Amino acid sequence: MLNFLIKNALIYDGLGGEPFKGAIGIKDDVIDSIIKNGDSLPMAEKIIDAKDLILTPGFIDTHASTGFGFFFPHAADHKLYQGITTEIFGNCGTSPAPIDMHLIPIMEKLAADLDFSFNWRTLGEYFEILEKTGVQFNVATLTGHSTLRSGVLKKWTSSSQEEQSQMQQLMEESMKDGSLGLSTGLIYAPGCFAETDEIIELAKIAKAGGGIYASHIRDERDKLEEAIEETLTIGHEAKIDVLVSHLKAAEKRNFGKITKVLKRLEEYNASHTQQAKIDVYPYTAVSTKLRAFIPKKFLEGGLSEVKERLNNEAVVDEIADYIIDRDYDLSQMLIISNEYPEWEGKNVQAIADEFEWSLAQTMCEILKRDTEMWIVYHCIDQADIDIAITWPNAMICTDSWSHPINAPKRIGVPHPRSYGAFTEFLKRYVFETKMLSFEEAIRKITSMPAEYFNLKGRGRIEVGYKADLVLFKQDEINPRATYSKPCQLSTGVEHLWVNGVHLIENKAINKSKPGAVIRSRV
Ligand SMILES: [Zn+2]
Repeated sequence: MLNFLIKNALIYDGLGGEPFKGAIGIKDDVIDSIIKNGDSLPMAEKIIDAKDLILTPGFIDTHASTGFGFFFPHAADHKLYQGITTEIFGNCGTSPAPIDMHLIPIMEKLAADLDFSFNWRTLGEYFEILEKTGVQFNVATLTGHSTLRSGVLKKWTSSSQEEQSQMQQLMEESMKDGSLGLSTGLIYAPGCFAETDEIIELAKIAKAGGGIYASHIRDERDKLEEAIEETLTIGHEAKIDVLVSHLKAAEKRNFGKITKVLKRLEEYNASHTQQAKIDVYPYTAVSTKLRAFIPKKFLEGGLSEVKERLNNEAVVDEIADYIIDRDYDLSQMLIISNEYPEWEGKNVQAIADEFEWSLAQTMCEILKRDTEMWIVYHCIDQADIDIAITWPNAMICTDSWSHPINAPKRIGVPHPRSYGAFTEFLKRYVFETKMLSFEEAIRKITSMPAEYFNLKGRGRIEVGYKADLVLFKQDEINPRATYSKPCQLSTGVEHLWVNGVHLIENKAINKSKPGAVIRSRV
């Protein structure tokens, strides 16, 4: 007998075809049967009448960085309520494994700060711990280039031949342990100090292990086109599929560049077997660390060295020039830490005015207090985002780590996309602007990422596929999260299954942890 029968639903299979009315039978962790309306229904232990509801495959978040967040209770609630049943983390160059020598003390400190036990080195060991702890939804990871560098390099700025081979060996082991590929974060230290050749060699190993290469590219502003070219060069040289992470053209003077970038990607795709795709989040503000907005050379060395350097007047002057040169509009940059109430929710310009500091001095003062300070910066054009999201090769992401409602304070305040990227995507692009049909929108967040990342047996409503399913009430889809109140769960999801387990039932989430650790399979 079936475990569940979901009847009278409007079903979107994830492949982009017309929806149909029917029923789905779930047995154990898979979709056992699909029955069109009018045919006789099989017996089931539990029957859900989905009249007026929409049934789709669970959504796949292509770009996240939860990593350690899974050790918190309710780590994934805010994503499950968006309809997400699978998350790919390890993005932007940072992954929870492998941990080599120089990273061990940093990880030990992080574990003490965030209160989790750190007792792994390899990806295989990390996965085993995750499996023992249990996860609410399915997870898979890329291998972070900065993670490799931080573990192996004696000096962040350059890598010796020997260090490069060490990183390559770690990359190979990670691929064997089930990594989906390589990720870089080329605006963040220490990834930003790497030459393209170093990345090509690592990408070749990712390719040999059946993986892809995802990049937070070297510049999302004035040098966007050059940064895209570097990604395509890596794709071409390593013969690997590339994914430009959270594509954007930041700062007013770069608005409008996305059309040109997509045209370049289309040209590339027309002449290559390996394909370039993008992922995007549907918001016009970025969320990152404040330190990404000062010259990288000032971030070399340890924290005390950095602090000392930021006291130097010549350094402050150089940062002042950098702000002007890069056209940063600091009145649009909000501090989102809850550890510094005197700054929280204020923009950098306002803080400068209040304390009678220059803009550069303000950035230095904030960074001296906390080099990890998070900000939200409104610097993206809505028209660019719309063009990127509606591009047929675009997938959707939250670009967020886990941020449970009861998260430790040190984690900071999230960008609203953590709680609402997928519901915002459906609300804006399908229902409000109608820029996308519902079936196309669902394809972008189900079968398309599943195929791209080679997540076999997921992302479609098809017999034999894993029963990762979401039942929506269309009129109630609402992201709710805002910049000032980001920790608000999305609405619209009535029921949700992960691997056949009924995790959200009539809007209420239970404590099950049915998620699988997905290891790549070539
Ligand atoms: Zn990134």
